[in-house]
This record gives sequence, structure tokens and C-alpha cells, in this order.
Amino acid sequence: MSSPFSQSVTFTPELHIGGVSATSLAKEFGTPLYVIDEADFFTRAMAWKSALDSHFGSHAGTVYYAAKSQINREIARWINQVGIGIDVCTGGEMAVAASVNFPGEGMELHGNNKSEAEIADAIEYGVGAIVMDSFHEIERVARLAHERGKVQKVLLRLTAGISAHTHEFMATAHEDVKFGFSIASGAAWKAIEEVQSHPSLRLAGFHSHIGSQIFGSEGFAIAAARLIELSAKFRDAFGSELPELDLGGGYGIAYLPGEESMVPDAVLASLFAVVSEECAKHSLAIPRVSIEPGRAIVGPTTFSLYTVGTTKTVELDGGLTRRYVAIDGGMSDNIRPALYGATYHAVLANRESSAKPTSSRIVGKHCETGDILIREIDLQADIQPGDLIAIPATGAYGRSLASNYNHLPRPAVVAVKDGVARVIVKRESYADLMAHDL
Ligand SMILES: *Cc1c(COP(=O)(O)O)cnc(C)c1O
Repeated sequence: MSSPFSQSVTFTPELHIGGVSATSLAKEFGTPLYVIDEADFFTRAMAWKSALDSHFGSHAGTVYYAAKSQINREIARWINQVGIGIDVCTGGEMAVAASVNFPGEGMELHGNNKSEAEIADAIEYGVGAIVMDSFHEIERVARLAHERGKVQKVLLRLTAGISAHTHEFMATAHEDVKFGFSIASGAAWKAIEEVQSHPSLRLAGFHSHIGSQIFGSEGFAIAAARLIELSAKFRDAFGSELPELDLGGGYGIAYLPGEESMVPDAVLASLFAVVSEECAKHSLAIPRVSIEPGRAIVGPTTFSLYTVGTTKTVELDGGLTRRYVAIDGGMSDNIRPALYGATYHAVLANRESSAKPTSSRIVGKHCETGDILIREIDLQADIQPGDLIAIPATGAYGRSLASNYNHLPRPAVVAVKDGVARVIVKRESYADLMAHDL
């Protein structure tokens, strides 16, 4: 059965990643810990780039890594080494990329409520594109670019009216959302006219991001078709063709054994088929197409490593029992189960055990009943305090959504490659927790 762990993870006689054992990781770096498979990260990032290049050829735009899925200075360097772009949606994410001299032209600024300062910084840094999300923002970007004597390349974020089959809070392109300009309502067309009226803005094309953790190509295909239809209308009205099209991210990954992540080659083959067919239908040249995977690059690269602190068996109705296995982290280092009902897998990481599989619930150490990482999983009956538990596929939206709830210091991020483990983000200390208290 396929495993949601990254490529270099093995399981006998205990969990190893790139030749480093779970026990030695816990001993050297402590737990909870995010452990990222560096080679796996490069493999996945390259796979998206080569799939875009091979299917779109001269029509390939840029793969923008969605920084919000997980960003730190080392990951920003890796992205730059792979030679792809980065999508940032706040000044903070932009600052991390800028701190490692990430090239401005490889950066795209997103966000539904960018501040004047964020827009001004982005223009001055020379970001490749600003993806615009509201009429207020069109006015702001136009004014701030004009004041600096610049012409800023922009894209318009459009909502194509798609109900992506994912959790409500992970769907972004139906009508009743805060993102983008609706095509159906006419807001998108008004935004186009507005952008065209500002000499300090250069409209390069449209952008759509339909949601996250999406499987199947249908939603992406409908969005692409609607954007291209609007591009044809643009050509008819303004007499020129838009050179770019950004189809966003959202490609689903495996969290449980037996699930399959979306495959870059298959995704890009089907996107190319739709884009070329729709462009032909409207007699448009194929634009340069960009994509923005976040989760699909970093999600599967990482597992979270925890130490079991207590176990407890509670009686349920009907004579059933459930064993609670409490680990030393929880909703502060992985909010996704509580926020989206996300499901995860777990394994005993520090030893093998053939003890009987027992219905278990993995919970954290926070003062919340909802602090549950896995509601129901069969784990060996002999799991006890001191054992290590590894939860795979926590690279995306784990560290980036982490909090200090209950004043838990956020875990370190350790990168493992060729038998060597090194810290790329330090574990927070109690002093860090108080660093801003007066
Ligand atoms: C979140 C986001 C992405 C990345 O989504 P994933 O599901 O991580 O691939 C890409 N583009 C935009 C605009 C986003 O908001």
C-alpha cells in the first residue's frame, strides 16, 4: 500500500529518514519536531517545474511555490536553487524571501487586503507581478506605482464560480467568498476596464485559485475555460491578447495510506489539453501558463515527531473502550484536524511492535477537548510513555499555522539529507515566548 511518508523514510527496525533514526532525532533535537526530507523537497519542486516545462514548452510560465504552506529562510533558498518562483501574500512572507535575496521578478504578491506599505515595498523590490483582488487595491497599486514612476505588471484574481470539492474553508472560487472579482457578476469586467484606465498598470492576464487539497481535473478545467473565454472578450474589446494565465495551486496530496497525491505530469497534461483547446476555440494564442503549488511540494516532505507522555483508557457506551494517547504537542503545531477535520496517519516510530492493534485517539497537551490530532486509529496496544509517534505529511500548513497556545514554544524544523540532520528553524525557548512582553 502506498505510504504518505516521504521517499527516504524506512521502517525497520525503527523509523529512519535518510538513514537517520527517529530515536537519534528525538535525542539530539527534542520533540515535538518537524522533520523535513530535503531531497524529497527538491524532487517534488523539480517535478512540478519539469512537468510545466515539458507539457507547455514555450508556453510554460512559472511555478510559484506558495510560501504560506511553509516558509523560512532555508526553504526560500531551496526554492531559488530549484529555479522556480515564489508566491507571497504578506509583507512578512516577502521579507523572508527578500532576506535571502530572492529575485524580485520571481515573486508574485497575493492577498485580499494588502496594505499600502506592503504594496509600496513590493513595487520598490520589483516583484514580477501583483495579483489584484479589489477595486480599492487597483486604485492603491496604480497610485503607488505612479508616484514611483513605475509601470507595475499586474494580474486580476477572478472567481470563476466553482464549488471545489473540498472543505468549505479550503474552497476559494465559488461566488460567496472574500477573494477575487466575480466573472458572473460583471465585477471582473469592471476591474479590467479600471486597470486599463491606469497608465501605471500593465495587465498581463488573469489568475484563478479554486481552493486547496483538490483531486481531479474538472474544477481546474472549468476555471481555465472561463478565464480564457474572458481573455477572448478582452481581445475583442481592447484589440490585444493577454500574454499570461495563472491557474493557481491546490493540488491534493496523500495523508493516509492508500491515498495518492496528484501527479504533476498528469495535472499539467490535462491543463495543457484544456488551455490549448479553449484557446483554439476562441482563436487565441496560447498564453504563458503559471501555477502555484504549495501543499503538493512541501506537504509530503515532512513528518512530525512526538513523544508519548501519557495513555489512558476510557469506557464508551456499549462496553467499548478507547485508548487516549497523549503526545507532547497538538493543536499548536498542527491545527488542521481542529480547523478542517483533516485526517492523518501515525506510526510508532522508535521500535517495532507486534502487539495487538487497539482503537486509539491521538491527542495533544492543550487545554481543549478539540485538541485531537487523530480521532481514530489502530495503534499497538503496548504503546507507552516515552515511545515516539510520527505523523506524516505535515509539511504544509503545519509550522505555518502553528501558534503558541498555552505558551508552548513552537517546534524546531530539522532538515535531513544523506544521513545528516541539521536545524533550519530553531526551537523556540521560554525566553522567546517572553521576548516581547514588557
Ligand atoms: C494557498 C494558495 C496557493 C497554494 O495552495 P496549495 O493548496 O498549498 O497548493 C496558491 N495560490 C494562492 C493564491 C493561494 O492562496
